[in-house]
Amino acid sequence: MTVATDAGPLERLRAILGELADLRHAEALADWDSRVSMPPAGAEGRADVLATLTRLTHEKLVSDEVGELLEALESVEDETDAALVRVTRRSWERACRVPGELAAEMTHAAGVAVAAWDRAKAASDFESFVPHLERQLELKLRYIECFPEAQTPYDVLLDDYEEGTTTADVQRVFDRLKQELVRLMEQRADDGPALRGPFPVAQQQLASRLVLDAFGYDETKWRIDETPHPFAEKPGLDDIRLTTHTDPGDLTSLFSTMHEFGHGVYEFDIDESFARTPLGRGTSSTIHESQSRTWENLVGRSRGFWRWFYPQLQPLFPEALGRIDEDGFVRAVSAISPGLIRGDADEVTYGLHIILRFELEQELLAGTVALRDLPEVWNARMKDYLGVDVPDDAHGVLQDMHWSVGYIGYFPTYQLGNVASVQIWERARDDLGELEEQFARGEFSPLREWLREHVYRHGGKYPPRELLQRVTGSELDPEPYLEYLRTKFT
Ligand code: ZN
Repeated sequence: MTVATDAGPLERLRAILGELADLRHAEALADWDSRVSMPPAGAEGRADVLATLTRLTHEKLVSDEVGELLEALESVEDETDAALVRVTRRSWERACRVPGELAAEMTHAAGVAVAAWDRAKAASDFESFVPHLERQLELKLRYIECFPEAQTPYDVLLDDYEEGTTTADVQRVFDRLKQELVRLMEQRADDGPALRGPFPVAQQQLASRLVLDAFGYDETKWRIDETPHPFAEKPGLDDIRLTTHTDPGDLTSLFSTMHEFGHGVYEFDIDESFARTPLGRGTSSTIHESQSRTWENLVGRSRGFWRWFYPQLQPLFPEALGRIDEDGFVRAVSAISPGLIRGDADEVTYGLHIILRFELEQELLAGTVALRDLPEVWNARMKDYLGVDVPDDAHGVLQDMHWSVGYIGYFPTYQLGNVASVQIWERARDDLGELEEQFARGEFSPLREWLREHVYRHGGKYPPRELLQRVTGSELDPEPYLEYLRTKFT
C-alpha cells in the first residue's frame, strides 16, 4: 500500500498499523498451521519464520516515527480515533522497553519448546522438558526486568493479557472463590448416569456442526479443524479458524467447539471499520474467556440448550445414549467431578485448577519452587485441593501447553473470565428475558445480537475494566458467579 507523503498524521499512523496488523495476521496463520497441519519435524524451521515476523513487527512498532505520530495525535477528538491512539501508545510504550532481540528469542524459544513439550507429554517425560522450561523462565525473567517499576514480577506478565489488573486484584478474587469452590465440591450430590462411548468421531463432528450452524456459523467466513489442543485464531477479516479435538471415548469435543466458537464470534462480530487496526481484536484475555465460557457453559450446559439439542444428539449415538434420557444426560454433563485435567473440569472444580497454576507460576518466578521439584509440588497440591492422585506427569504438570509457549500469567484470565461471564449474562437476561426458553426453541440469535451490540462490536476500543463497567455497571465481582454456582449445584 502506498501512502501519500502529505497524508495527515492519523492517516499515516493508520497505514503503519495496517501493515503491523498484516504482519500479525501472517504470524497467526503460521502459528495456526504449526498446530493444525505442519508435520512435527517442521517446528525448528517454523520457529525461525515466527521469530523473523516478531522481529519485523517489533522494529516497525518501536520506530521513532510511531512515537512522533502518537505525540502529534495526543489530543485527537473523535472517540474511536482517541481509542486507537491510546491502544497504540500502550503497545508502543511496552514494546519500546523490550529489546527486539529478546522479543524474537521469546518467539523462537516458544516454537521449539512447544514441539519438545508435545514429545515430553506423549512420553510423560518431564525430565526432557526441563531445559525448555528453564529457558522460558529465564527469558520471562529478562522480560520482567524491562519493567522495573512493577510492584511484583507477576504484574508485568499479567498486564500483557489483562490491562489494569494486578496480582493483588486476582488474589482477592481467588481468595473469595477458593473457600466457596471447595465447599461446593464437597457438597456435590448426584453425578447422573455415566456417559460411556463409543462416540464415533464423524458423528461428533456432525453434532458440533449442527450446534455451530444454530449459533450462526457461516462456512464462507469460518472453518473448523482438528488439533490436539484446541484454540481459535483470526488471521484476517472474515477469516475465523476454530479448532477442536474429538476423542471417540467422550463428548468433550462438543464443549470445546462451543468454547472456541465463543472466542471466534467475539472476533468475528467486531466493528468492520476496526479491521487492520489494534482495535480489531478482543480487548483482553478475561473478556475473551468470558465469552468462550458463556457459549460453552452458560449456553452449552444449560437445560434449555439440551431441551433443543438432546433430541438431535441422542439418535447420533444410539449405542451410548439410547437408554439415557434428557434429564440424566444434562446431569451427567454438568456433574461436579474432581479430576486431573483442567480442560475437562466441571464448572466448580475448574477454578481450583486455575488457582493451583496461579500460585505455582508466582513461586517459579520467585524461585521458591525449583523447576525439578515441580511435578512433586504439583501432585501434592492436586491431592490437597482436589483430592486426586496424579498417576503420571502427562496427566499432571505436563498437561497444558501454556508454559512451553511462554504463556505465564495467562491462566488467571480463564477464571476471571468465568466470573465476568455471569456478570455480563445477568445483564443480557435483564434485557432479553428467559434465555433458556429461547434456547429450548433453538433460538440463539437474540443472545448473540445482544452480545454483539454490548461487547463484541467494540473490539479493543475500551480497556477491559471500562468495558465491564459499561456493560454491567460494576467492577469484576465474584458474587454473581458464586450465586450462579450455588443455584445450579446445591
Ligand atoms: Zn479459551
